[in-house]
Amino acid sequence: VATTLGNSVIPLVNKLQDIFAQLGSESTIELPQVAVVGSQSSGKSSVLEALVGRDFLPRGNGICTRRPLVLQLEQRKGKADGRDQEWGEFLHLPGRKFFDFDEIRKEIQAETDREAGGNKGVSDKQIRLKIFSPNVLDITLVDLPGLTKVPVGDQPSDIEARIRTMIMSYIKRQSCLIIAVTPANSDLANSDALQMAGIADPNGHRTIGVITKLDIMDRGTDARNFLLGKVIPLRLGYVGVVNRCQEDILRSKSIKDALIAEEKFFSSLRVYNDLAEHCGVPQLAKKLNQILVQHIKTVLPGLKLRIGEALASVAKEHASYGEITESKASQVALLLNILSKYSEAFCSTIEGKNETMSTT
Ligand code: GDP
Ligand code: MG
Repeated sequence: VATTLGNSVIPLVNKLQDIFAQLGSESTIELPQVAVVGSQSSGKSSVLEALVGRDFLPRGNGICTRRPLVLQLEQRKGKADGRDQEWGEFLHLPGRKFFDFDEIRKEIQAETDREAGGNKGVSDKQIRLKIFSPNVLDITLVDLPGLTKVPVGDQPSDIEARIRTMIMSYIKRQSCLIIAVTPANSDLANSDALQMAGIADPNGHRTIGVITKLDIMDRGTDARNFLLGKVIPLRLGYVGVVNRCQEDILRSKSIKDALIAEEKFFSSLRVYNDLAEHCGVPQLAKKLNQILVQHIKTVLPGLKLRIGEALASVAKEHASYGEITESKASQVALLLNILSKYSEAFCSTIEGKNETMSTT
């Protein structure tokens, strides 16, 4: 899904996140990312796939997403045999490039089973996947298991509480943008997504509402009032989408065709004709990128401060060790130095972005 706001400051954020993930200390510095929340089968994985523009996530009825999947999208221009070159790399399989996106899905499933077992078990251990493509926005997305009420398979009796805790651990971070997914064929007032987002982000500064399944609403109803925020107001508003149904998936309907069908759907229904900026995956992508860059701008000063503090304290510790260059402390100090450089480069990139961002 190429948008006008394409390349931006986010590759730097991705690099920082990678470094922290390797250090196993992700929580020390909170970096912006986007997480999808909602009930099971509300369409979270479908929304993420549509944003990426490729099929590679396990989707379907029942529980499919059973571990958090941290997905870093990186815009990378490149062609092979005249075609766009797109590939994925997993953190747990360094050096291996996946050009076949079906293989990516299989690896996600296999890696899920390795950690969470084969029988519907859920684990909070992340799978980290990078997608390189000329056709993506530069953002980091987190696909999370959906909320369920009744344990099935090997799930423990407190499955609901466990999944809630897992989801909260992502969305409570001030630096996390929340995509709260609710299917249009259920009432917004019953939305697990909006309920959890409301707890994590009571002021609604970082929650985008997404309404899926507009195509299968009860006949005679439409989502106008949902999309306009008349049912549950959301500061950042709602976008309605139509993703592929299970039959489309079984018949391997492509994302491209799905996007065309979505556009047709919205243009054919008069109720949605005056709501263009609330409708469709491309609108969601656009909105997301704008909000994300704004968001990074607001969290950056704090981030810089914390890196500075961490650097000072490590430097002090380092000094107390004398001249042992191979020590862990000196390695960490070096790293923090690099990070602080990144953050400076970051500030200047963002400042250069001001004009571009005021378009909407
Ligand atoms: P998740 O559990 O929230 O990640 O949901 P999935 O993305 O796995 O989707 C659950 C099921 O709903 C799948 O069978 C999808 O094909 C179907 N689905 C998702 N979005 C839509 C939509 O907009 N319209 C229709 N008709 N089906 C959808
Ligand atoms: Mg899913």
